[in-house]
Amino acid sequence: MLFFSFELAAIYKIELEFEFLIVGAGIAGCSLALELHRAGKSVYIIDHNNPNTSSRIAAGLVNPIVPKRVILTWEGEHIFPKIAAYYSEIEQYLNTPFYYPMQMLQIHASEAERKLWEQQSEKPIHHDFIVPQSGTLPDGLISHHGHCEIRHCGRLDTNAFCEAIIDFFKSKNAFESAIFEYENLVSTSSNKWEYKNLSFDKIVFAEGVGLKQNPWFGYLPLKPATGDIITVKSDSINSHAILKQKHWTIPLKNNTFLAGSNFIHEPKNENKAGEIEDIISGLNKWFGEVELVNADRTARPTVVDRRPFMGEHPKQKGLFVYNGLGTKGCSLITWLTPAMCKYLTHQSSLPEETLIQRFLL
Ligand SMILES: Cc1cc2nc3c(=O)[nH]c(=O)nc-3n(C[C@H](O)[C@H](O)[C@H](O)COP(=O)(O)OP(=O)(O)OC[C@H]3O[C@@H](n4cnc5c(N)ncnc54)[C@H](O)[C@@H]3O)c2cc1C
Repeated sequence: MLFFSFELAAIYKIELEFEFLIVGAGIAGCSLALELHRAGKSVYIIDHNNPNTSSRIAAGLVNPIVPKRVILTWEGEHIFPKIAAYYSEIEQYLNTPFYYPMQMLQIHASEAERKLWEQQSEKPIHHDFIVPQSGTLPDGLISHHGHCEIRHCGRLDTNAFCEAIIDFFKSKNAFESAIFEYENLVSTSSNKWEYKNLSFDKIVFAEGVGLKQNPWFGYLPLKPATGDIITVKSDSINSHAILKQKHWTIPLKNNTFLAGSNFIHEPKNENKAGEIEDIISGLNKWFGEVELVNADRTARPTVVDRRPFMGEHPKQKGLFVYNGLGTKGCSLITWLTPAMCKYLTHQSSLPEETLIQRFLL
């Protein structure tokens, strides 16, 4: 918590006026804060440091293919070939690693599934993304129906990403660990916004599922979808690739793997044991017995029409939202964060499908 007065600020040369306030330091808020900073803007972040948010639990999988229909995700042909370069540039800027390009192998569960993937791989738009029978399965893993390689995949270590950016802003006295109190945000006659004793030109709300509490943007139809991620240990299979079927695994260090399910649905019971058992029974077919190391559950900020919320409040000038990244946040921010930054700095408009004007206030 920071307690500044204007006198103290003058003595210690601490800024009290910023162009931007970002509320929420998940991957959306963090990436936007850094992008704005690198565009020469002054930015302040407030986040309440909750370890159970989407960006702190996420597996960080970067996968261009929608598994059920075997098609490229929204704008996939433009986004995915540039993802590794996007993160690599930020890694160099912050001198911290957090993105790991990895091979992904789709293990077919049936002949029908193999045929579908092979048919889809023949479409020109998929040539750079789906390669039948490419890549080698790890020793000991038997696939009766073959496999294919999905290209342009990887894993974002979302915790390392957020922490590196938060540390960067902390070092500039521009990060506050606190719950944002909406009632303390007031507009001034000079078209600015004041929060406690700080002044801002523009506020961007990036609170993930916390959006529901936001008095200006809470009307937007966010439909949080709960997900489970587990960490397991297995000494029987040593895979360096991401493996995928109904369930998936991402290799970490020392024979541990992150694992989860492809299917997004509201779990049937409050107790997460059933969901975990389901994931583990899928893994048993590949790895034999696995040791459960950790299990996490939280909600993703998903939207009914599967498109993000971006733009300015229809009535309150200077208030903006960046939310609704759903199940693909780690891929989408690489395209949408630069777009949001350009929009906020009056260089270009936002992609049409993301505009909040599609929902009535
Ligand atoms: C189980 C699970 C697995 C996932 N796996 C993947 C994956 O493999 N690949 C992928 O691309 N995506 C995945 N996702 C989705 C991804 O995590 C989200 O798209 C992304 O993290 C959303 O980021 P965000 O910054 O919008 O929201 P959040 O991560 O929710 O961040 C919002 C931030 O705002 C803060 N905040 C909220 N309200 C306030 C307030 N009033 N005051 C101060 N701070 C506030 C919160 O503390 C939080 O830090 C997964 C999500 C879940 C839940």
